[in-house]
Amino acid sequence: MAAYLQSLEQLSALLAAQRKATDAQGRVGAEVRRARIQSVIDLLVDEHEALATAMEADFGGRHPGFSLMNDVLGALGSLKHARDHLAEWLPDQPRAAFAPYDQLGGEAWVQYQPKGTVGIIGTWNAPLFTLLSPLAGAFAAGNRAVLKPSEITPRTAEVLARAIDARFDPLELAVINGGVEVGQGFADQPFNHLVFTGSTAVGRDIMRRAAANLVPVTLELGGKSPVVIGRSADIGETARRLAIAKGTNGGQICISPDLVYVPVEQREAFIEAFCASYAALYPMVQGNGDLTAVVNQRHLERVEGCLEEAREMGVQIVRCPDVATPAEERRRPLSIVVNPPKLSRIMQEEIFGPALVLLSYSEVAHVVEEINQGERPLALYYFGHDSAEQQWVLDHTLSGGVTINDALMHAAMEDAPFGGVGASGMGHYHGREGFAEFSHARTVFKAPAYDPRGEWGMLAPYHPGFIDVMKSQITR
Ligand code: NAD
Repeated sequence: MAAYLQSLEQLSALLAAQRKATDAQGRVGAEVRRARIQSVIDLLVDEHEALATAMEADFGGRHPGFSLMNDVLGALGSLKHARDHLAEWLPDQPRAAFAPYDQLGGEAWVQYQPKGTVGIIGTWNAPLFTLLSPLAGAFAAGNRAVLKPSEITPRTAEVLARAIDARFDPLELAVINGGVEVGQGFADQPFNHLVFTGSTAVGRDIMRRAAANLVPVTLELGGKSPVVIGRSADIGETARRLAIAKGTNGGQICISPDLVYVPVEQREAFIEAFCASYAALYPMVQGNGDLTAVVNQRHLERVEGCLEEAREMGVQIVRCPDVATPAEERRRPLSIVVNPPKLSRIMQEEIFGPALVLLSYSEVAHVVEEINQGERPLALYYFGHDSAEQQWVLDHTLSGGVTINDALMHAAMEDAPFGGVGASGMGHYHGREGFAEFSHARTVFKAPAYDPRGEWGMLAPYHPGFIDVMKSQITR
């Protein structure tokens, strides 16, 4: 069988074969794990140009340098970190046996075992990263894997699938391409773990399907990541850093700043500074190879629909830079939507494109209250130099991750977990936590030779004093 699967029937057959191989394998040593990870690293090193070209074509405009930074180097970071650290994560962990067995020679440890086969469903916005970064953790934990790239970036999916086909034994890594139907059929399979990156709505369906086979899931979902700009923030530098973050991948990043809360008296200064910074990064829109286009017409209509609705509601919208939009391209200026009504679509849906919502506030406590009324976000950003306020915001909110005085940065941490909470997801990858996510932590207890229970009157037929002995142990 080839590693590039052509049907769900082939996927089912492969999973059965991978299961057999898993059962026969015994311990998966560090060398095997490292070799699998190295093959993915080699693939990226050898194919990076073809992959960046495919991503540029799939987006209808995405700078190859950005694709190398975001997807190739991003995935390489996770893969190399796992390759270079897995030997620290693998060893059995000794644990304290309970009394009195600890005194009698009882031993206990936790063994981290591969779960088996991990299925990984990726998105179009980071079409390599969302597949290969979780794969680093899955391989580090000794698993086999099957990937399902997004059909919205088909050229990238095809280059990746062919490269995997040329390099991998399908018993270790395989790939299947396709759209919603293949995604559904994929989620119906009896994987030993399923990683899904995508929208919250589809994530719910994936979890329902996985539940039929009791497949544990890691859900990397989206949401409306808020930014709290404190009064102590340097408004010019804050605006500059947010303009950089918002311009990244044309706003099509799961942790892109979505709702920006600014002190009411600094609103105009923020808009001016943000637009100046954004225009310095992207002085023009049409034909600007540095600006990532909206990935397809459907997503463009979705973003423009939200803006149109806000405009009809009489909401102020500031465009940076304020230039006419070319119909033949899907690059757009960034739109700042100022104080839209709560019920507008742009306040309800994840923007995931070249727009942000600016909300002015008087009291930071009200901002936190408003954030907490919504779904738990994937990321939260705080800008300011008031450490008491910073701590207060951290203590009174819950989000997947946080960056302070910048945006997006925490996701680049290989040595710390990345994942959502509540509606923004569950579970983690990256680093030791990713290894733990894809491992089964099996507790092993080794009993001592001497069994004291009979001598201590703990076995049936119970001695009349047994109950008093038990009662004497119930203490505070
Ligand atoms: P999506 O949910 O539409 O699709 C994701 C994947 O699921 C694709 O491979 C797709 O083919 C498949 N799919 C689509 N519908 C399906 C269905 N009904 N059943 C089974 N599979 C299905 O998401 P998208 O548009 O590709 O990505 C954008 C979303 O992903 C945003 O919400 C974004 O925030 C989120 N995201 C999250 C992270 C993260 O790490 N948390 C990273 C990137 C993107």
